[in-house]
Amino acid sequence: MRLDFDAQPVVEDDHTINRRLDGVPVPQLLVAAAHLTGEVGLLADEFRPDPSSVQMTGEDGLSPEQADRARDLVARALIRFRDAGCKPAPPLTGEQLRSSIEFLCGPVDDDHFQLFEEELALGGADLRKPAWRASEITPDRPMTVAIIGAGMSGIVTALRLRQAGCSVRVYEKNADVGGTWLENTYPGCRVDVPNHLYSYSFAQSPHWPQFNSTQPVLLDYFRTCVEELHLADAISYCHEVDEAVWNDDASSWTVTVRDAEGRRSAHQFDALVSAVGQLNRPSFPDIEGIDSFEGRSFHSARWEDDVEVDGARVGVIGSGASAVQFIPWLAERAAQLTIYQRTPPWLVPMPNYHDDLPENLRWVLDHIPEYARWDRLSVFSRLQEGLLPRTVVDPDWDIASGSVSAENDAIRQGLTAYYEFVFPDPDLRAKMLPAYPFGAKRMVVDSGVYSTALQRENVTVETEPIAAITPSGVALEDGRIIDHDVIIYGTGFRASQFLTPMRIVGRGGADLHEAWGGDARAHLGLTIPGFPNLFLMYGPNTNIVVNGSIVYFSECQAHYIAESLRLLLERGAKSMDCRREAHDAYNERIDAATLERAWGASDVSSWYKNEFGRVAQNWPFNLFDYWNQTREVNEDDYLFS
Ligand code: NAP
Repeated sequence: MRLDFDAQPVVEDDHTINRRLDGVPVPQLLVAAAHLTGEVGLLADEFRPDPSSVQMTGEDGLSPEQADRARDLVARALIRFRDAGCKPAPPLTGEQLRSSIEFLCGPVDDDHFQLFEEELALGGADLRKPAWRASEITPDRPMTVAIIGAGMSGIVTALRLRQAGCSVRVYEKNADVGGTWLENTYPGCRVDVPNHLYSYSFAQSPHWPQFNSTQPVLLDYFRTCVEELHLADAISYCHEVDEAVWNDDASSWTVTVRDAEGRRSAHQFDALVSAVGQLNRPSFPDIEGIDSFEGRSFHSARWEDDVEVDGARVGVIGSGASAVQFIPWLAERAAQLTIYQRTPPWLVPMPNYHDDLPENLRWVLDHIPEYARWDRLSVFSRLQEGLLPRTVVDPDWDIASGSVSAENDAIRQGLTAYYEFVFPDPDLRAKMLPAYPFGAKRMVVDSGVYSTALQRENVTVETEPIAAITPSGVALEDGRIIDHDVIIYGTGFRASQFLTPMRIVGRGGADLHEAWGGDARAHLGLTIPGFPNLFLMYGPNTNIVVNGSIVYFSECQAHYIAESLRLLLERGAKSMDCRREAHDAYNERIDAATLERAWGASDVSSWYKNEFGRVAQNWPFNLFDYWNQTREVNEDDYLFS
């Protein structure tokens, strides 16, 4: 996966240039072309996207005639650019940058401007890079940090802390980087967030082959990042952390790791970061007889490549985001495929989900690579709120109707129409149409591939509850037994069991899992009272579900951790411990807001909820709010010692 933004010169004739712009989204194209050529007049008011249309539909609100006219102006600018020798314009002035951002995203205040500028990272500027070095603050005090996990969030934390001059050691249980994108190798695995956004702001790429890239492409991206950011030597592979114990006298964490040969060793660090992810430990269902099955069975996150599915009788338990991706592959091969579906997910149409980038867009990205950044910003700005407002509960609305507000109900109506279109058989449609409100559970996207697979002759969606697994297959509550050669568990992860199976011991010998008692909480998802100098990436209540990309959250968290360490150094303090009052007040706000969101108000089963029914996973606010709360560390939230 290449990360360079090297532009190919425009050498095509006038007609070809015109043709190459057909179908390319206009607002981003105008801004990128104005940026490349210096022709800021391209940003004419008549082509400004309509912010309300962008928010509601993702469309820019321009008529086809307006769009054609805009593309024609861009083509003419590119022709002049070609004729003048393809000399890029000077960097944008501050004023031009602001007007370009506002052209694309609508008027912004200074805070949003700062956020957007950081996300845009124009010309590769890494505006979130720490502006300090540990050695400049305290030359005699090295700051040592252990990071657990070299997945998406471990990588960005390692980068930030190294940029700040900390001594970083990353322990990774696997033999490679990538975390979830290394472990989930099932056929069809891909990201369902637009890929330009599902990438680091400081390591963007115009070279994504698809709108939503596949697992091998994403893994390649994270490997490339580690290589190009020179992080490889910070990582100890095949080193699993078993335990971390806080020592109050030394103000340090003792981290016990186990290597591939099972040898254990202990190491001291000033600070500890968990970057182990929420969706890491596979969850098998608690079904009677699960070990008695005599055929082959495995979990989707531990896919066995040598499984023989051609002509086999295959059962899939689960119908969440993972199963929806591998079911079409199985459907094409198995003699008989039975999907045991307990709760249908909401299927949201995304027609280009499996598509390669169209040739014309590819041409634009090759010749105006900064288009990738402007497009990313446009998606970011739209997903800042995303569908969040439409998951807010109207207290006067009857949730039993299957929605939480009139706006939420409008989504139900729209998707019901989609279901009528893609599932003409009323029996199948009745099985597939969720009874719970949109947003209460993780939605999944459908390009037509999944909905079509379910209608093959050899595929059955079974909604009768499972009574037991038998040596030959699955026994249903109505007494039927369905025989299988292979059973695949798409039953998700132990998402509520944060940091499992590690033992984490804080002040006074307190065990973190006992302190949580199964109900994980943290201040800003990051810090926990009694566990000084411990920071969680992708911790409690930092998952986003209807807006944005989780990569963004990791960048915010890595920034906050770096800022915390800066404070420790500047104050000459050895430790910082989150104050209970700050932690509790924050969690009260989270819980109150959660109850006003579809996923908090609905009682449908989901991995968003822990054993107490509390949503311990999701962030209930917009993207700006998290950035705003993590961009500075409020010193009053901590006890320094
Ligand atoms: P999941 O969403 O937790 O789905 C688990 C499935 O197993 C559900 O259908 C669940 O039914 C079913 N299940 C669990 N226990 C069961 C039982 N005892 N009997 C019958 N069915 C049972 O897990 P996942 O599909 O692996 O996805 C997890 C998360 O990973 C996603 O939500 C997403 O955030 C992430 N992910 C993302 C992508 C992507 O970007 N495209 C792809 C894959 C995964 P109920 O619904 O009734 O509980």
